Amino acid sequence: PSARTNYAIANWKMNKTFSEMAVYLQELKSKEGVSVVICPPSQLLYPAGLMAKQQGSTVSIGAQNVHEADKGAYTGEVSASMLKDIGCAYVIIGHSERRQYFNENDQQVNQKIKQAIKEGLTPIICIGETIEQKNSGQTEKVLTTQLVGALQDIDSDFILAYEPVWAIGTGESATAEQAQSTHAYIRKVLTALLGGRAEGISILYGGSVNDKNAAEFSQMPDIDGVLVGGASLNAESFEKIIAVF
Ligand code: PEP
Repeated sequence: PSARTNYAIANWKMNKTFSEMAVYLQELKSKEGVSVVICPPSQLLYPAGLMAKQQGSTVSIGAQNVHEADKGAYTGEVSASMLKDIGCAYVIIGHSERRQYFNENDQQVNQKIKQAIKEGLTPIICIGETIEQKNSGQTEKVLTTQLVGALQDIDSDFILAYEPVWAIGTGESATAEQAQSTHAYIRKVLTALLGGRAEGISILYGGSVNDKNAAEFSQMPDIDGVLVGGASLNAESFEKIIAVF
């Protein structure tokens, strides 16, 4: 674990019913010194927050997405003020699945970050390269472009998640050394963009993290936690991941 705030964030994606969520929250024990954030699908945000509160849990609730407008004629969408209103503290922005399946671009990501900050939500900003970009030596260029685009005119706090697209849901995680060297590069770019403030920003790794490999990531000086998809769906597995930070 690093000196920065360490996070264990669960991205449930489009999984779990109300009753599955209730059982999970009952089972999950958090740990002092780690900020645990559960990001359920949107219909569970309110009841999950309520239950966590009733149980006296320190777990926070985050959304998986937010719309970039204040309000209005955007059928099916949810605004940052609505998320704040029902007790969300965090929101994942720019996840690669949003970029890939819903064509989100860096400009939209930037708008969404601004909306989140305006409403007092902490954005969890996701960046990462595809396998083609990695194989053609473009990783640093891609990450820099995503960072510069996302962070235009942003001067509030955020969490960054490095999630190589080739490692998400594939069972093929980056090695801890690979992730560390990319995180160090990301921090260098952040320093160029934000100055000394970059030292305090938590950079999480995401991509096939599980209860076996989490400990290796936690040893690395620039890895300040993890964003977990598949392995976060099981409370026991996620608890083991939390435990190493
Ligand atoms: C994710 O979707 O953010 C993720 C990291 O997924 P997984 O852990 O399943 O690779």
